[in-house]
Amino acid sequence: STPLPSDIEIAQAAHLDPIGDIASGLGIAPDQLHPYGRDKAKVDLSVLPAPDGEGAPGRPERRRGRLVLVTAMSPTPAGEGKTVTTVGLADALRVLGERSVVALREPSLGPVFGLKGGAAGGGLAQVVPMEDINLHFTGDLHAIGAAANLLAAMVDNHIHHGNALGIDPRRITWKRALDVNDRQLRHLVSGLGGPVNGTPREDSFQITAASEVMAVLCLATSLEDLHARLARMVVGSTPDGRPVTCADLHAAGALTALLRDALKPNLVQTLEHTPALVHGGPFANIAHGCNSVVATRMALELGDYAVTEAGFGADLGAEKFLDIVTRASGLVPDAVVVVATVRSLKMHGGVARGSLDVPDAESVGRGLPNLLQHVRTITDVFGLPAVVALNVFPSDTEAELDLVQRSCADQGVRAVRSEVWARGGAGGTDLARAVIDLCGGKGREGGAAGRDGGFRYAYDVRSSLEDKLGQLCRRVYRADGVELTPAARRQARALEDNGFGGLPVCVAKTQYSFSDDPRLLGAPRGFTVTVRDLTVDAGAGFVVALAGSVTTMPGLPASPAAERIDVDADGRITGLF
Ligand code: ADP
Ligand code: MG
Repeated sequence: STPLPSDIEIAQAAHLDPIGDIASGLGIAPDQLHPYGRDKAKVDLSVLPAPDGEGAPGRPERRRGRLVLVTAMSPTPAGEGKTVTTVGLADALRVLGERSVVALREPSLGPVFGLKGGAAGGGLAQVVPMEDINLHFTGDLHAIGAAANLLAAMVDNHIHHGNALGIDPRRITWKRALDVNDRQLRHLVSGLGGPVNGTPREDSFQITAASEVMAVLCLATSLEDLHARLARMVVGSTPDGRPVTCADLHAAGALTALLRDALKPNLVQTLEHTPALVHGGPFANIAHGCNSVVATRMALELGDYAVTEAGFGADLGAEKFLDIVTRASGLVPDAVVVVATVRSLKMHGGVARGSLDVPDAESVGRGLPNLLQHVRTITDVFGLPAVVALNVFPSDTEAELDLVQRSCADQGVRAVRSEVWARGGAGGTDLARAVIDLCGGKGREGGAAGRDGGFRYAYDVRSSLEDKLGQLCRRVYRADGVELTPAARRQARALEDNGFGGLPVCVAKTQYSFSDDPRLLGAPRGFTVTVRDLTVDAGAGFVVALAGSVTTMPGLPASPAAERIDVDADGRITGLF
């Protein structure tokens, strides 16, 4: 039913500007750019302002841009178009004459070859070169995997050579990493073959995007901070529960060396030549699900508007941006865009996944409480200005779209249509105007509402771990409260005894519901969230709370996308999406 060619056909037909031109348009000096071929480059961290807030050499006057965070209502399994909206909004800001820069996560090969596909946007709102970005790109994921695996090897090697630190092989929490969905590697026994071949132990792999190294890279504010965070990562413990760290193994320097170039943000462009920094890609369930802090700061430094995306719904990605990334970096969004689709509203109105294309305004109306609760989270819990971007699909009817806009207006919520998927930046100018408005209007004088205004966190980070989880569950999920299993309560006590009680919490839960039960759609009430496991990511700087079952190594579906990907004799890739 779509008049558009496929995403990859659009991307392959695109005309790309030389990456040097995109960089010079941003004022990046030639010696700050490290080209990776014609269409990609890494950008040196020297373009960032010095930590004391003074401008970097050559741009002392530049005022920091405005930060726009794109999030969504609870998603359908296909995604609600946050990446599409992020890219299209930045293009639309350029259409209106504003200097915008996109900051996005880089894709993981897991979804690319699995079910969901790539993460470079879609339709006429994409970042290019699409094939490179979705595959090896500039090698960041490979470097992160290498760093995780070097540390794993150093743990086992330490045990093999006498185990001076007294690491308990049964309490090693550090996992090996691979950027492929491979359920076969979730649980295994390694080190078999007798004394010369290591120490037998239970072992496991996780997908690279779920590795703490990825979260560390994304939260690090400088090379020194990266080194310090890597050093703090916990690999396991002694039999009496004392944590053993990467620093104890003297591994932080080597890991930093592997990651030195990976820390530099990657510059590419949208189909409309808007600069895009695509950097870092932690999962939004087990980790914080946002692109790197250095890329977002760079986008703010180089543009007047930085548009960035947080994974899944506002209960997960946006909450983690605001409670974790903002605490680590000081980055407070000036405006938040909540993406909604008629399809997802229908799903929350009780329609089965297979029937989301059937016109059904009544179900759309029944799904609205889900969207409104996400909007209230942003405006009432975090105190930030928000606008709903209604991402228009070819199957949506006028009656359905109109109902969403009118119902939002009745609740005092602004909802504008976004047609960037079908029309590129020209289809997002209403959204761009609304965003400019929320950021305090056109021109440099306007005060940004979010920046100095009413922003607050969802919980007090000085509370106990259980208290923090309770505040988060009540305020953002609207649960009656949180319940820790006896095991989780013991873990909370141990974490607090080991000095990790002051960290923010990163909840791993289903993205389909505000609750920990994926079947509770809409805006459920009267439920309690159960946390059954608490672990520390000391380098990333958060305590991960598992609510529900979450795997850090996905599997491939019965018919993976990989079966339909091919390359012709000229090197042209087909089947990526
Ligand atoms: P998210 O970032 O929320 O996971 P994406 O932006 O990656 O979602 O979009 C998911 C998929 O849906 C992509 O394949 C994209 O091309 C498609 N899509 C997004 N918006 C639209 C739209 N308005 N019409 C049709 N397809 C769309
Ligand atoms: Mg996305």
